[in-house]
Amino acid sequence: MSDQHQNLAIIGHVDHGKSTLVGRLLYETGSVPEHVIEQHREEAEEKGKGGFEFAYVMDNLAEERERGVTIDIAHQEFSTDEYDFTIVDCPGHRDFVKNMITGASQADNAVLVVAADDGVAPQTQEHVFLARTLGIDELIVGINKMDIVDYEESTYNDVVEEVTQLLKQVQFNTDDASFIPISAFEGDNIAERSDNTPWYDGEILLEALNDLPEPEPPTDAPLRLPIQDVYTISGIGTVPVGRIETGLLNTGDNVSFQPSDVGGEVKTIEMHHEEVPKAEPGDNVGFNVRGIGKDDIRRGDVCGPADDPPSVAETFQAQVVVMQHPSVITAGYTPVFHAHTAQVACTIESIDKKMDPSSGEVAEENPDFIQSGDAAVVTIRPQKPLSIEPSSEIPELGSFAIRDMGQTIAAGKVLEVHEK
Ligand code: GDP
Repeated sequence: MSDQHQNLAIIGHVDHGKSTLVGRLLYETGSVPEHVIEQHREEAEEKGKGGFEFAYVMDNLAEERERGVTIDIAHQEFSTDEYDFTIVDCPGHRDFVKNMITGASQADNAVLVVAADDGVAPQTQEHVFLARTLGIDELIVGINKMDIVDYEESTYNDVVEEVTQLLKQVQFNTDDASFIPISAFEGDNIAERSDNTPWYDGEILLEALNDLPEPEPPTDAPLRLPIQDVYTISGIGTVPVGRIETGLLNTGDNVSFQPSDVGGEVKTIEMHHEEVPKAEPGDNVGFNVRGIGKDDIRRGDVCGPADDPPSVAETFQAQVVVMQHPSVITAGYTPVFHAHTAQVACTIESIDKKMDPSSGEVAEENPDFIQSGDAAVVTIRPQKPLSIEPSSEIPELGSFAIRDMGQTIAAGKVLEVHEK
């Protein structure tokens, strides 16, 4: 065990081997509970297939998945020499894209899985796009299923080239990406260097995970606690609950809820059904504030210090990336924005600049429209008060997803907030 923590996202196209890779990582790092392995070992031996525990663990995961009793690959944990990893979320999970954007599952780094026999596929592009927009620091690219392509160096090189082009397209610094030929299923170049790829002398996967840069320390930003729900509990009173994104919450603090614009002194804080004097980023808390009634505050409010309250935007400027939209987006478009726990209809008031994704330069000032694949700077006017922060100051409260017709159509981060 180590004390450094990493939140890791496993991204890539469906069926390229993400779950298998997570299973393999858990298995190789000794994170699958011994009794589960033992059970599979016995079953395997009974069926005359000793030594195939890994395949049995994976079969079992697949079976459980089919029965809907997921041994979920999200939120699994494993440790290397350097870090304790938490798999924060995985694409394929219903709300992955939204979670990734709204920070519910902020990943520090990511492993991109690309099947060698299929190459870059639609979700490979979508996830790389998101990783880039949301500021994933470093990308480890596992070119998977090398066993299917007979461990051919030329196939590996072709896929590496294809992925490199994609990374350049979305302006991901290719110096921050490393490529490894792997087979999640057979275990090549995961925990041990494979004899099947004598032409490869770079890092194997566990080495690359160990060499990831340390996550940025949490910002010394003021308290920001987006409210998820508000309860009335007998004997206590009104209890807002939520997860602390930044800063500290102490009993006795004077706090302010925005945009509801009410405040008071924190009387009690509860975590895991116990009263605590203080709480910190990542903690899920319920708390009680003197003088605040159930109807004074609501989901989507953000709690912060009374002397440094959460910003409320009259308008804000943001950088957005359009992922999928059936037609074009023009000024006046009013979809629903999801930012932390808030959902507010917002109008795209103006499209200020369209960016060239390959150079990062301004491609067009005041374009008439933007469409799928475009990156742009836009000015946004919430139709109801919305608390949001510049991403450069409080990244945890500075990103959003734009949803329409049941789909995430764009993602973005806040550049500037104009308050009333
Ligand atoms: P996901 O949708 O990205 O999570 O993909 P899965 O992990 O469910 O894998 C999809 C299919 O590919 C399954 O049948 C796996 O057994 C298979 N698979 C995954 N990795 C490998 C690999 O390295 N080699 C081979 N031959 N098959 C693999």
